Amino acid sequence: MKIIPCGSVASVHPPEKYFTGRVLQTPVIETEAPARVRAAVVSFEPGARTAWHTHPLGQTLHVTSGAGLVQVWDGPIREIKAGDVVFFAPGEKHWHGAGPKTAMTHLAMHEALDGVHVEWLEKVSDEQYAG
Ligand code: MN
Repeated sequence: MKIIPCGSVASVHPPEKYFTGRVLQTPVIETEAPARVRAAVVSFEPGARTAWHTHPLGQTLHVTSGAGLVQVWDGPIREIKAGDVVFFAPGEKHWHGAGPKTAMTHLAMHEALDGVHVEWLEKVSDEQYAG
């Protein structure tokens, strides 16, 4: 057993090349093989969002506060709010983020395949974000 005390892991601003706007990420867990679960709490200020990306084994989001937006490639922008759970299938191209006027925080959970849990793609343009 391992207990990770609250306050022992730093929150970080993730790399700007993978996000638009102000985002704060707090790691929850990065398990060692053979386990492969990774999780993080991610907070997006209004207008902030991920770049387009995929997860090799899919991803579950649990929105813990606020209201935001998600979209899969060739799909409509969908609104999400606190309490909602979103699952992206393995390889499904998507983005997630805050609403234009509302902050959003979610717990992101995903598994790594051969050490890789995300494949980053192009940024979500302002035109794409505006729908
Ligand atoms: Mn994702």
